[in-house]
Amino acid sequence: MRILVTNDDGIFAPGLKVLEDIAAEFSDDIWVCAPHEEQSGAGHSLTLNAPVRLHTHGPRRFSVTGTPTDSVTLGLRKVMDSPPDLILSGVNRGANLGDDITYSGTVSAAIEGALAGIRSIALSQVLNRSAEHEQFDATRKWAAKAIAPLLDAPLPERTLVNVNFPPIAGEKVAGIRAVRQGFHDYSRGSVVEGKDPRGLPYYWFGLHAIEHTLDHGTDLEAIDEGFVSVTPLQLDLTHHTSLEALAGRYSQ
Ligand code: MN
Repeated sequence: MRILVTNDDGIFAPGLKVLEDIAAEFSDDIWVCAPHEEQSGAGHSLTLNAPVRLHTHGPRRFSVTGTPTDSVTLGLRKVMDSPPDLILSGVNRGANLGDDITYSGTVSAAIEGALAGIRSIALSQVLNRSAEHEQFDATRKWAAKAIAPLLDAPLPERTLVNVNFPPIAGEKVAGIRAVRQGFHDYSRGSVVEGKDPRGLPYYWFGLHAIEHTLDHGTDLEAIDEGFVSVTPLQLDLTHHTSLEALAGRYSQ
């Protein structure tokens, strides 16, 4: 099995090394093509207004001066001589839960993989900076158990899987739950306002203070209860139950 490993935290991120170790449990044919610098929050953006460079870091190991989507695209089209059987994206340093996933470069790299018809899994470690355990401990102990059933699961085309690991020590994780995507209450984090050294105002977005109402059967609830969350996602964003009602409004 050939695996392409990517992320949005960049080629030098500790979580990428964690994911390479996990991938090595499944295959020795592992390729890495990841952004050269951190691209968290890049979503599914594609670099259109600047050239993108490809850097070689070693055998089957490359970085791209662009987004996660750029990295998967170049990985598939220019770096690898034949397509991978699996794309693993992460392990992200921080959660990708609820509707935050639309901002996520980690999930978007898996979206690009799904668009290319390749089984794709995004993996994220929810952080607890005050915890005493190593931050990726839950991922290290549970990732293979979460990934193995996905390898031959009957997933249709244009779907991908989003996996999050709870911010607790691996030995305390309660298990793995397949759950739906939850949603946050709208309070889009913080906006810090300041002045730069030349006296010009700037704004800086933060992610803390995002709140959510836990809903039963969601990724947010699973993580809150100490489980690994596994959520299949689809690229068809159509809200099918509204389609008929809207179509009626345009009929003559
Ligand atoms: Mn990230």
